[in-house]
Amino acid sequence: MSRTATPPPARAARTERSTPPSGERSGWTSCPGCGWLLYRKRLDRNLQVCPECDHHLRMDARARIDLLADTGSFAEQDFTALSPDPLSFTDLRAYPGRLDDASRRSQESEAVVVGTARIGGHDVVLAVMEFGFLGGSMGIEVGRRVCGAAELALERGLPLLTVCASGGARMQEGVFSLFQMARTSQAFARLREAGQLSVCLLTDPTYGGVSASFATLGSVVVAERGAHVGFAGPRVVQETIRAELPAGFQTAEFLLEHGLVDRVESRAEVRPLLIRLLALHSSASSDADRSGLFGGAARPGPRRSDDGPDAAAPVHEDPWVVVQEARCAERPTTLDYLHSAFDDFVELHGDRAFADDPAVVGGLASIEGRTVVVIGHQKGRTVRERVTRNFGMPHPEGYRKAQRLMDHAEAFSLPVVTLVDTPGAHPGPEAEERGQAHAIAGIIMRSSRLRVPVVAVVTGEGGSGGALALCTSDRLLVMENAFLSVISPEGCAAILWRTATEAPTAARAMRLGAAHLLETGIATSVVREPAGGAQADPVAAADRLREALVRELDDLAGSDPDTLLAARSRRLSGIGGAEAHAGTGPQPAPRTQD
Ligand SMILES: [Zn+2]
Repeated sequence: MSRTATPPPARAARTERSTPPSGERSGWTSCPGCGWLLYRKRLDRNLQVCPECDHHLRMDARARIDLLADTGSFAEQDFTALSPDPLSFTDLRAYPGRLDDASRRSQESEAVVVGTARIGGHDVVLAVMEFGFLGGSMGIEVGRRVCGAAELALERGLPLLTVCASGGARMQEGVFSLFQMARTSQAFARLREAGQLSVCLLTDPTYGGVSASFATLGSVVVAERGAHVGFAGPRVVQETIRAELPAGFQTAEFLLEHGLVDRVESRAEVRPLLIRLLALHSSASSDADRSGLFGGAARPGPRRSDDGPDAAAPVHEDPWVVVQEARCAERPTTLDYLHSAFDDFVELHGDRAFADDPAVVGGLASIEGRTVVVIGHQKGRTVRERVTRNFGMPHPEGYRKAQRLMDHAEAFSLPVVTLVDTPGAHPGPEAEERGQAHAIAGIIMRSSRLRVPVVAVVTGEGGSGGALALCTSDRLLVMENAFLSVISPEGCAAILWRTATEAPTAARAMRLGAAHLLETGIATSVVREPAGGAQADPVAAADRLREALVRELDDLAGSDPDTLLAARSRRLSGIGGAEAHAGTGPQPAPRTQD
């Protein structure tokens, strides 16, 4: 991999970069990324990734199947060969002649290969596009086969993995090609309605009618590193706007930054990721879960000990001390807990519309065998990370990311866990322009009616509406040194006492802290922290959080969605003591003592 190990011909090529690469020579090929000559066998060993510049060379469908599927597990689905030519299209030559050529050159009968396979032992349906067949363009037959793959997945209850590579709709089949966008999209909608996992892997290049239909409709969308993906190609965009395009325009990394894909992976990382995603979703797709049991109710109960998370009432500390503890820079962050209190975590990025907000992290996690969707504010630890994460103050896209992850949880009957630690939502003009209030309102409304259990934990600072956005839940846990507040004590003091120096007085007047939340029934339990606070022993703090979460998830696992929603509604209506209606049913009792 190192430059010193590069064979001499590559070095020679490097010095001749001004001349165009000579293309293929016997046993050698030139990298389209850096122009170096690469020994073919070395390139094969490296999964067609240039060891010099990391350029991911294009891969044909069969090589891709070999890379992703367990050895020997792929069984191709037979499609009766159809070669539609609905327009009797001829340009410089007749369309059937072009199809024959494409078929001969690519050794494929169309631009997509469909079949079943196993990935890490998990059965899946695969649809892999072949860019070498007329640029992976989508005509009637591609539409038919992609729909066939989705139907097979529906019939057999299997996840569908689609590997996309396409220039767009096929011109030679005219408006019939255009309507394959609708045909394939409805097939993906049916998968979504059935709660079945679809994963789309976007490879270089994916454009036009394919990117604007099934390629971006997967439950999880992953882009391969460096892949170019967009609707209109860069040349069309440039000619239209007559301006320089930003560096990296339409690359996988550009898509990630703009919130359009869940993840970007190098070629070698794709298969391990797929195995984790399939494993995390497989526990959720059992019949037991479909009948209303979340995350597996039949598992053995959690360990209980006298020193458990809520074994004792919270220490009634001075609210101002609690505020300072909750804000301590050394306290574990959401990502710290995700890597210590949970067993696996696959982060999913982006709101699929505008950006990936680093102040909110979320994704799929497992905790003692239960798969959950976790969403939390992320403050960051170092100065640099705190700035990058905007000190844990989300923009609207952060809340929209959280909301789409809640949609994912509901689609797969997975419980939601939220970890709350924010000074508040970002106060700024750009946040207002993008609808901060509506984004917060939207997620509160969504979580109030989410048909899966929601367990919220205030782990640190719970500032105002920006915190409440992740607090609408069946259970609200508060860590011993955490608080929820309608306004910061400094803000309250500045308004009512006319000086921020009265913040300690304001904190006491507002009765900030876990004790008050528990007494009033707003919090359903308190998670005890180790002596000296969570920051003094993050491992012990994570253990206690894990234990508390497992207990709450198991308590909620048996409820069917309607019972869950009725109880959540009563809980929310009961806060403040004046219930809107006289409902009955189970209410979580505040836990103070075991
Ligand atoms: Zn290269």
